Amino acid sequence: MNHGRLWAFTLVDDAADRRWENAVGRFAETEWGAKFIDEVTLIMIGAVPPQERVSSVLYGMGSAILVKTAPFDAIGDTIQAVFRALADYPLPSVSVFLVDDDWRVAMLGAFWSTWLKACVAANVSSFRVMPDGSIQVVQDVEVGVTQAVTTYRPDEKVTILWDIPHVSTPPRVRRQGDGLRLDAITVPDVNREVEVIRLIEPTPQELPLEDAERVVAGGRGIEGPDGFAILEELATCLRAGLGASRVAVDQGWISYAHQVGQSGKRIHARLYMAFGISGAPQHLDGMKDCETIVAINRDPKAPIFDVAHLAVVADAREVARQLTLALRARESEEHVMTV
Ligand SMILES: Cc1cc2nc3c(=O)[nH]c(=O)nc-3n(C[C@H](O)[C@H](O)[C@H](O)COP(=O)(O)OP(=O)(O)OC[C@H]3O[C@@H](n4cnc5c(N)ncnc54)[C@H](O)[C@@H]3O)c2cc1C
Repeated sequence: MNHGRLWAFTLVDDAADRRWENAVGRFAETEWGAKFIDEVTLIMIGAVPPQERVSSVLYGMGSAILVKTAPFDAIGDTIQAVFRALADYPLPSVSVFLVDDDWRVAMLGAFWSTWLKACVAANVSSFRVMPDGSIQVVQDVEVGVTQAVTTYRPDEKVTILWDIPHVSTPPRVRRQGDGLRLDAITVPDVNREVEVIRLIEPTPQELPLEDAERVVAGGRGIEGPDGFAILEELATCLRAGLGASRVAVDQGWISYAHQVGQSGKRIHARLYMAFGISGAPQHLDGMKDCETIVAINRDPKAPIFDVAHLAVVADAREVARQLTLALRARESEEHVMTV
């Protein structure tokens, strides 16, 4: 088989971090991996474990390069230093980044493909090295609905960001590689001069709604942009994102990025607080799956109350103000108690 060299990349944070084992095991279980795993080189970056530990869990991979770095933050200089160290080896034609929930792996893959001048295939659900050496990649365009299949020529370099499937049970395959070659290199801590003084939390305006655990949202009943200023204060106390109905967006009280609903964002927050939102079907479409819904509306017959777990019949701005004051008071009480 003429497939060229294949490198599989994974990151390790500390001794307790065993995600790499799962990633390598999943790789070994793919149709292609089961046949040709011994032709793969594992590139492990970060707080790499002792060599004996790695060699016992390689599932038959032919070789590994352990790149020891300071805590890996995936920013500029560290990446460049890692790449320069790897450049001492014959570089691969296929690079596979084993992407789990760690965004840094995908980021590293994107930088690597630029550095290597390789094509990049993201959101890959599976791939195969064909007998003629070409690479067939299947990408999720819309998860579970649409997939795209792309074939890369044998002479093309390709970087694959593979969304490795989650498994709760360890993979079955567990082979020890024959003639395993293990190299360990250390990349100096080039970011030593950067000291993290303080992490700045995103404001409610900046927090992406899809990622927010809590969302405070306003509709026509919040009565203007100043109403959203009140909601923003509440959202800051709750470390929540800021959502809105389409009416509020159409009025120009807040930007479209905050719209929740059929033509906005669909969210699954743990807490959704709807202030002055009637609960039109198009709005419900975007938030009905939230775990706990609290609705504040002065109309006791508002449809939003049909999906709310807690219904508050009151003035929206007033409730938001009072809640903010109560949360601030509690926060300063807690602060006094811990000082
Ligand atoms: C194709 C299509 C797509 C759409 N997509 C979306 C979408 O993605 N998202 C979306 O939100 N909408 C969408 N809509 C619009 C949707 O149908 C509603 O018009 C919109 O959701 C209503 O917004 P609202 O609840 O803020 O306003 P309203 O329906 O006017 O409701 C305002 C509510 O505020 C209450 N209220 C008023 N004053 C106060 C106060 N002082 N205190 C407390 N309560 C008060 C009122 O009792 C009322 O219930 C779409 C419509 C269409 C046709």
